Amino acid sequence: MRAHSPSSPLGHVVVIGGSMAGLLAAHVLSRHAERVTVLERDHYEAGSGPRSGVPQSRHTHVLLTSGMEALEELLPGVVRELEDAGAPNLSIPADLGVWQAGQWVSRANPSRPVMTGSRPLLDHVVRGRVLADPRVDVRTSTEVTGFLGGPDRITGVSVRGRGSDHQEYEELEADLVVDATGRGSRTPEWLTALGAGAPAEEVLETGRAYATCVFETDDAGSPDQVKGFYIVPDAAQPFGAIILPAEGDRWMVTLSGPRGQAPPTDPAGFVDFAAALPHDAPHKWLSTARPLGRPVGYRHTANRRRRYDLAARDRTGLLVVGDALCMFNPVYGQGLSVAALNAVALGRALAAPDLPSTHSLQRKVLRSSRGAWDVATGADSPMPGATGDAVRSGLVERLLNRYLERVRVRVPGDPVVCKAFRDVLFLKAPPTSLLTSPRVVFRTLLRPAIPTPPDLPTP
Ligand SMILES: Cc1cc2nc3c(=O)[nH]c(=O)nc-3n(C[C@H](O)[C@H](O)[C@H](O)COP(=O)(O)OP(=O)(O)OC[C@H]3O[C@@H](n4cnc5c(N)ncnc54)[C@H](O)[C@@H]3O)c2cc1C
Repeated sequence: MRAHSPSSPLGHVVVIGGSMAGLLAAHVLSRHAERVTVLERDHYEAGSGPRSGVPQSRHTHVLLTSGMEALEELLPGVVRELEDAGAPNLSIPADLGVWQAGQWVSRANPSRPVMTGSRPLLDHVVRGRVLADPRVDVRTSTEVTGFLGGPDRITGVSVRGRGSDHQEYEELEADLVVDATGRGSRTPEWLTALGAGAPAEEVLETGRAYATCVFETDDAGSPDQVKGFYIVPDAAQPFGAIILPAEGDRWMVTLSGPRGQAPPTDPAGFVDFAAALPHDAPHKWLSTARPLGRPVGYRHTANRRRRYDLAARDRTGLLVVGDALCMFNPVYGQGLSVAALNAVALGRALAAPDLPSTHSLQRKVLRSSRGAWDVATGADSPMPGATGDAVRSGLVERLLNRYLERVRVRVPGDPVVCKAFRDVLFLKAPPTSLLTSPRVVFRTLLRPAIPTPPDLPTP
């Protein structure tokens, strides 16, 4: 990076993509830049509706404990603002019927908070906060079409306006370009067009398919005594369900199935599909609720990580964040939290007395998504039909999987194992903590699993 004034050493920063990862990165970078320009292909909807550039926003989105804390660190007061806007704040497992490894998880086990408002609501609140800062400028209906510069140095982007009859092309210079364009990122192609190599990719695909539908009930009441359900799929039981409250007395319902058994996208078929779940409580509740519109399907659920940190150590001017860098099987609900953790890592790295190299920033950002990657690929590796070079299948991995299976069956009834497992799942502790805590190891290897009652648990 070129040197600029000590108070704004980054010069002009262009962030491509004005969704969660891009906005949070822009917020952090604005403290170290002369100016930050966010380029967003979409026109932001007035209010908080889904938009085409984030098609997954029609699906259930959970913000994990780690994501809530990271977001609060970046934008103090934002959790309260989300609650005031109607986003439910639930304690897990106290508030939910969580089914794992053939049993209900005891609701008396130690809990942690998650937020379950709709994705458009979350985006709306975060966008309002970030764009209120005059140091962040946003240009909507503006699509980036490629990079300027050469293989070793990215010096800007080419853009075209959208939505008008005549599309105007323009070149925009920048000292740092941040790619936050999500799952469809074209940075590998844009780098190739400049004569630079595309990054190595790690992939793990289970072929799971999802469908989501919004429901309402007559009395806006909770399903039975719980505030929702989370039916966790695993190698032995491949059907999953997430039923969670959202703002406006609505329920977000996502069902998932293995390769070849996708949930139907007609309302009646969607409800029938829930009969395949391992307990009948979610199906019973769905049968009494009313769908608001048709279910929406989703199939691109592979875990994919692009190793920009391994390529071109000397390249300057390009940083990749959010889903464009590392995307996860959505069943684990991690992507938003990781976008916030990426921004926190970026902010901490930039707080160092000397401006870090882009390569060093990239490594730190990637490291902040590592826990989520290890959780998702660790849980997906034993799934039937899992493919890709990130599948862990060696002897050590098989032993590790056997150990983790023992952990999973102890989660429902053992408060110590449940707490440790939930901390890993909510990205509050690394997966290795399940192997290094003597209490967890003792209970996992030497104590039998504690059975929980077969009926939906009361608190
Ligand atoms: C079905 C499903 C369910 C999910 N559930 C959860 C969940 O429960 N919890 C959770 O934390 N995560 C969940 N996720 C993941 C979460 O949606 C993503 O991790 C998150 O959206 C990533 O944010 P992002 O900013 O990186 O990308 P995105 O949110 O995808 O945004 C990319 C942005 O870039 C813009 N853009 C793209 N190309 C260009 C271009 N050329 N020029 C200008 N702008 C461009 C787009 O318009 C968009 O605004 C789920 C994902 C899916 C698919």
